[in-house]
Amino acid sequence: MNDTHNKMEAHHLPAEEKVLLTHNLLNEVYKRLTLESRRTPMHEFISTMLSHRTNHADEEKAYRTMLERFGDWEGIMVAPIEELTDAIMTTRYPEQKAVQIQQVLQIIKAERGEINIDFLKEMPVDEAMEWLTKLPGVGLKTATLLLLFNFKKPVLPVDTHVFRVSQRVGIIGARVNANKAHQILLAMLPKDPVELFNFHKHLFWHGQRICTWYTPKCEKCVLNSFCNYYQDVREKDIDKKAA
Ligand code: SF4
Repeated sequence: MNDTHNKMEAHHLPAEEKVLLTHNLLNEVYKRLTLESRRTPMHEFISTMLSHRTNHADEEKAYRTMLERFGDWEGIMVAPIEELTDAIMTTRYPEQKAVQIQQVLQIIKAERGEINIDFLKEMPVDEAMEWLTKLPGVGLKTATLLLLFNFKKPVLPVDTHVFRVSQRVGIIGARVNANKAHQILLAMLPKDPVELFNFHKHLFWHGQRICTWYTPKCEKCVLNSFCNYYQDVREKDIDKKAA
């Protein structure tokens, strides 16, 4: 059987096989990571809210400035909204984020008597997801990042890179939205937080470095033998250029 035929066969593999192949191959390419929280849960939570459409350096600057100016979560919760907005000005949509951060802090304080979310550790994963996603400005991505990174719950954050790579490879369909992608991918992967963490981080890096939005470096990609995008689009392009 020649190489082209092998590629054609692999191209039609079921999604369940593609996802495990992707996981195994990217485990070899990128280093395996241990799952250790780098930040306290509140730090991770509010930083994730600040990070929406914002690069890491600007998110960190906003976080630092906010705490320097207002001292602690209580101070941030009651700060004049224009001053809080100004403190997080390095992020995108600072006006909206300032309002949402204060609302979130107020809800936590009212419900729990203190601004602390450590209680999520003991909460079943579905309940924790429901509690978090009811909060203003907290979507599936923020909730899953927090629950996986800080509380080692078996959930999968699907950001733009995880979504794009999964869709191009053919693990999820072309019409699947990001929310649905979370459920579909999770159903096919081992329910082990360390595996889910590695899958998330590896696809994130792969999307940043190889499977980039405008010009994916397919020729260098270890997934190209079974990737729908590569087989359907890139090879046709190459054929056209050769004709
Ligand atoms: S082959 Fe190309 S499109 Fe497919 S995953 Fe790799 S870089 Fe992305």
